[in-house]
Amino acid sequence: MYQCPFHREQNGYSLAVWADGYKCFGKCDTSGDIISWLMKYRQLTFVDALQSLGQQPTSQQPKHQRKQEKLIHPPSKTWQMKAKQVIRVSIDNLWRDSGQFARDYLHRRGLTDETIETTQLGYIPGYYTQWTKLYDMSVPCGILIPWIRFDDIWALKVRRASGQPKYQMVKGSRPHIPYTLVSGHCNESAVICEGEFDAMLLHQETSDLVDVYTLGSASKRLNELNRTMLLPYRKVWLAYDNDEAGQNRVQQMMNVSARMQPLHIPNNGDITDCFLSGHDLRKWIQSTNFESWQNLP
Ligand SMILES: [Zn+2]
Repeated sequence: MYQCPFHREQNGYSLAVWADGYKCFGKCDTSGDIISWLMKYRQLTFVDALQSLGQQPTSQQPKHQRKQEKLIHPPSKTWQMKAKQVIRVSIDNLWRDSGQFARDYLHRRGLTDETIETTQLGYIPGYYTQWTKLYDMSVPCGILIPWIRFDDIWALKVRRASGQPKYQMVKGSRPHIPYTLVSGHCNESAVICEGEFDAMLLHQETSDLVDVYTLGSASKRLNELNRTMLLPYRKVWLAYDNDEAGQNRVQQMMNVSARMQPLHIPNNGDITDCFLSGHDLRKWIQSTNFESWQNLP
């Protein structure tokens, strides 16, 4: 921990620095990677920062970064207002008689009523190929999974009862942040899982041990904003399925940051299968955290 230069800190040490990034936990909340450090601290341009590291910038790099920065905003307030209404209606549906089938499905995946409520899951009734018009939004029928962080709704995703693709996004969604399940415990480690239902189950069982994130599928890459959000953690465990898509993603993320480590899911299955076959997710995470302390330099 260091005195933070960005808010001219005099008393205290708010700035945490890792091999691949930094974050101020004090007044200014600044964070970023080595490039943004050089840009802010030494007031360099993106190109100069790269050159100071001995890298030749190609013409695409600054453009790429501009694109990423543009993407980090949540959907418009108008979109979010409509999304909020859709979430409200879908929660209503889920807890009525007509939602029994959907609730049974969620219970079969190991989710408790409390988890279903806190994650604001909902239900849009209808045939699995159908889309419904609600508040001027076209919404696929199935179980509605809202991506909410703080006060913003970033995306509305639906798990359909059947058919491919199994998951559909409502138009206008911007799933550029990870789906986030964070408790008030100030956990030092986080786990990234493959999908939302796995994430919900893991959070339900271990919220006092780890924070849980998912990018929504194994095909999604880690973007700049995802990386920044994960900077406060000492360790980020990657609990992806033991198949080709999952393992490729783990490899790519490990190349991005040394703090990311693969986490083997017992039973060679996914987290939900593992839980349903009687494994104790708490014991699994506890033993993992213990190992991580032993391995600290
Ligand atoms: Zn600061």
